[in-house]
Amino acid sequence: MRRIYFDHSATTPVRPEVAEAMCEYLKGDSYGNPTSLHWFGRQVRKAVEEAREKVARAIGASPNEIVFTSGGTEADNMAIHGVAYTNKNRGNHIITSAVEHHAVLNTVKALGKEGFTTTILPVDKYGMVSVDDVAAAVTDKTILITIMHANNEVGTIMPIKEIGELARSRGIIFHTDAVQSFGKIPVDVNELGVDLLTLSGHKIYGPKGIGALYIRKGARWRQTLFHGGAQERLRRAGTENVPGIIAMGVAAELAAANLERESAYLKGLRDKLIKEVTERISHVKLTGHPVRRLPNHASFTFEFIEGESMLLSLDMKGIAASSGSACTSGSLEPSHVLLAMGIPHEVAHGSIRLTLGIDNTPEDIDYFMEVMPPIVERLRAMSPLDQETEFAVNSDCAACKVSGTCSRV
Ligand SMILES: *Cc1c(COP(=O)(O)O)cnc(C)c1O
Repeated sequence: MRRIYFDHSATTPVRPEVAEAMCEYLKGDSYGNPTSLHWFGRQVRKAVEEAREKVARAIGASPNEIVFTSGGTEADNMAIHGVAYTNKNRGNHIITSAVEHHAVLNTVKALGKEGFTTTILPVDKYGMVSVDDVAAAVTDKTILITIMHANNEVGTIMPIKEIGELARSRGIIFHTDAVQSFGKIPVDVNELGVDLLTLSGHKIYGPKGIGALYIRKGARWRQTLFHGGAQERLRRAGTENVPGIIAMGVAAELAAANLERESAYLKGLRDKLIKEVTERISHVKLTGHPVRRLPNHASFTFEFIEGESMLLSLDMKGIAASSGSACTSGSLEPSHVLLAMGIPHEVAHGSIRLTLGIDNTPEDIDYFMEVMPPIVERLRAMSPLDQETEFAVNSDCAACKVSGTCSRV
């Protein structure tokens, strides 16, 4: 069966050059521990430091400002936790947004239970945080602002540079999660004015289980999560994931080198997809910002249908997409991102995210447009959720109890 992958915000395939470089460090004499002083360790240490230089160069940082982690989640936890506990004597207030990835949102919420006060900023209908809202939330107790560069569910690009200027002028540490933006739009730590920045390998055509945290030289941050050895200059204990680090170096280097060409290509595909979906299917809305969005990102709500039914039907036709609704993970809650954008609960359930990658072609979009309209038609015909139907409340669903409406019957 023809298989098409439209879920690059969830994870990407590994570039062949990345896999090849990584494999070299799973073979032969390249197994040394980079901390060891002997030849085996030294040659691996050298490769790790070269990878660090590549990651640093790709985001305009210095190599000693890069710490390798087990992924984006760890980098987010490490950034937020480390700033919070290092600056406890200066203040206890943390600002974030309602549409962050759970690696940020749940970390901030956890700190809220440990004596920190938190402000979770609302977003507008495009999923955008307002700089004025950030400014209004700042108090003399604020020690950290953490706002993502680009949203994973709706692709909206946040005003990071402006928030960075504000944070700097108020002497507040600023972290951004750039997992989705890196490799798709320019990411330069000085241009953005950030103190800490999160990257993940598997969102940039690298392997899973590797990420990096940029920590600006002199930033009031220290390691608080892991107790152990002195690896990564005492910033991340644990023997280095050498093959992952090598891969991350190559993936970051290629992401930066190919940025312009690949983004332009992806944007062409994405615009074709958005145009055709919104023109040829009724009761569809683009979610996220129409212009300030990632070049590979298309996300929609289809009224009167469940996101997961669409996903399953698409999967049967060989197309991999994802839904903003978390129903598939056993929860009846629709996406916290879509709800924060003010999308009604029952509409949010009908969300679909199509995120494109460098291996996709215009023919993939044509195939999608062959397959999707009949799926929508069939599901709507089967659906009790036509325009006349009242939305019934599902007693299992926490959000239903709040809003009093639901599309799930
Ligand atoms: C995927 C993702 C993460 C988590 O990265 P992992 O490497 O999978 O832990 C964090 N933030 C955003 C925005 C993501 O899309």
